[in-house]
Amino acid sequence: MTAYQDFFRQQLAVWPLARQNYESQRLARYRDLWFGDSCRIRLICLPARIGSSSAKITAKGEVDRPCFLCAHRLPPEQQALPLPGTEDFRLLVNPFPVFPQHYTIPSVAHRPQALLSDLELRFSLAGEMSDLVLFYNGGRCGASAPDHQHFQAGSKGLMPLQCDYPAWKAQGARPLRQTGACQVYVLENLLRTGWLIESHDATAACRQIRTLVQLFGEQVRDEAPESRINLLVWFEPADKRFVALLFPRLQHRPACFYAEGPQQRVTSPASVEMSGYYIFPRSSDYEQITPEELIQIYADVCLPEKDIEAISARLPMSLP
Ligand SMILES: [Zn+2]
Repeated sequence: MTAYQDFFRQQLAVWPLARQNYESQRLARYRDLWFGDSCRIRLICLPARIGSSSAKITAKGEVDRPCFLCAHRLPPEQQALPLPGTEDFRLLVNPFPVFPQHYTIPSVAHRPQALLSDLELRFSLAGEMSDLVLFYNGGRCGASAPDHQHFQAGSKGLMPLQCDYPAWKAQGARPLRQTGACQVYVLENLLRTGWLIESHDATAACRQIRTLVQLFGEQVRDEAPESRINLLVWFEPADKRFVALLFPRLQHRPACFYAEGPQQRVTSPASVEMSGYYIFPRSSDYEQITPEELIQIYADVCLPEKDIEAISARLPMSLP
């Protein structure tokens, strides 16, 4: 057993709240919706998540509450595990899980959520923890603590774009660039827009991601494009390949979040929902949601295809 799996088991043994929340995941209901041959969306009803989906976060990604990721505010039962290769981050067991193993990886220092400053670390941890998917939510697209740098890691085998990989690529990914160690694809036929990046070389993948994020900022004239990115990264041990999914976002929340009456849906899509693992904290939303509404939700929050194409056309044929 690896150190983090051992740590997970120890934390659950001494922390009743976390243990109950992991056990209550067994009560989750789910059903799958298919859109064509490549796009599977798993709808999940998980009532414990209501706090996260309706968190009060301003348009600028600010929060009005004490930070729950700072070490001095952690509950007494919560321990932090040091990580290989970094003094700046610690591993925590997430007490409000959506996966059988769910971790939060906050920086030791209280500093704002950012993607690019610690990008290489995310890849190296994905390589070390190859049974997990690492994911990042920008401050304006799903982060529950945009004021404190952190990312998350959750069990493989549930998020459709990860567990159906690489089968969905045949219809869902159009090759864009092959640059030495890195292959970049444009996502298509998936309701969501973005890019798939594959590489045996983490440094090459990070270079592509930095360039795409910079081009995204230029395209939408936003000086803080990192705050509008969802990123998922995992490692395929069989062929020693990193796989990353990059979703640039148009909106934080879909129009139906702000609707009143029966049209309202309590949902705040983040990396997990972009992966096709769509969590509804309210059972009425889970039961009533239609395929057409789901199509509209993704259309509301994803960058339009014309912008994706404009950015893709500007991606250099080779990067230094
Ligand atoms: Zn903090």
